[in-house]
Amino acid sequence: MKAAQFYGKEDLRVEDVPEPTPGPGQVKLRNAYSGICGSDLHFYFYPEALPFDPGQPHPLTGAHLPQILGHEFAGTVVEVGDGVTSVKVGDRAAVYPLAASCGECSACRKGLRFSCRLMGSTGANAPGGGLSEFTTVNAAQLHLLPDNVDLRMGALVEPMAVGWHAVARSGIAAGGTALVAGAGPIGIGAWFAFKAHGVEKVLVSEPSADRRAIMAGLGATVVDPVNEDLGAVIAEFTDGAGVDAAVDAAGAGAAITSALAGLAAGGRIVVAALHEHSMDFQPTMLSMGETEIVGSVGYLPEEFDAVIAAMADGVYDTTGWVQEIPLSGVVEAFHALRSGTGAKILIKAA
Ligand SMILES: [Zn+2]
Ligand SMILES: [Zn+2]
Repeated sequence: MKAAQFYGKEDLRVEDVPEPTPGPGQVKLRNAYSGICGSDLHFYFYPEALPFDPGQPHPLTGAHLPQILGHEFAGTVVEVGDGVTSVKVGDRAAVYPLAASCGECSACRKGLRFSCRLMGSTGANAPGGGLSEFTTVNAAQLHLLPDNVDLRMGALVEPMAVGWHAVARSGIAAGGTALVAGAGPIGIGAWFAFKAHGVEKVLVSEPSADRRAIMAGLGATVVDPVNEDLGAVIAEFTDGAGVDAAVDAAGAGAAITSALAGLAAGGRIVVAALHEHSMDFQPTMLSMGETEIVGSVGYLPEEFDAVIAAMADGVYDTTGWVQEIPLSGVVEAFHALRSGTGAKILIKAA
């Protein structure tokens, strides 16, 4: 079968590898689509900055180079291993990529498995991945798709769950008001998640005119934070009250500063983006309004199911922001993603 294997810095090869066989408790999937994202770019362009050494076997999963990438994917079960009763051949599913965590550290004991230092993820540091025709995963990683959610949508469950978790971390109630800073895939996921949580008044701040146009096409109220006065727009949007919640999906310090200034008393900012740079920040902004700033990473298994249920309800619309590329073009796709073409790229696995 064809698979995209990562060998080291800027060395990803689409090549023939043996098809995997499911072990006990595992299934073999025929992959349909796999998204690529900033985490994959991190692997490809800056492996030296990863929090683990991909050259050494992973202490829990045993994964080592070459590693098949792809952690945002969906496929169809074609074979089940010994002891698997939860799914059957022909089932279609999105894959929850977290394959292993130590179970003993303070993060694991608090249920924050994504913050475990020994966390192993399919398509990163556990064997197999979405950027191949077939893969094996633990049956427990599968989240079944209902008939009206196709496999293309299924591959978007993971990135949409990132935004969903951020919205859950915001603590917002139905009827509240919100700001989403950044309209990349995480911001788009947060926007749909706010809608699904009954939050209709959501302002989307995005410097790129193309991305603003896509969001406006989906029905969002958009603002250009570079050429417009974001604070004034937030004030007007909320009748002077400020927003109850803000999700930073931009990864720029200015987004945090503006969001803090635009928060209602008791409001909360969720940092869901990765920031390359540190920033200046005036802590008194928190004390004066009793506002909060919290972080968000990953998603819970039940949030995967919540996203799938919202997809079945028709909450998610992929018009204008999803681009499909064949597996043979994956290396070019990595470079296109880095240069910021804006769309969510789905690699067609077979
Ligand atoms: Zn990702
Ligand atoms: Zn742990």
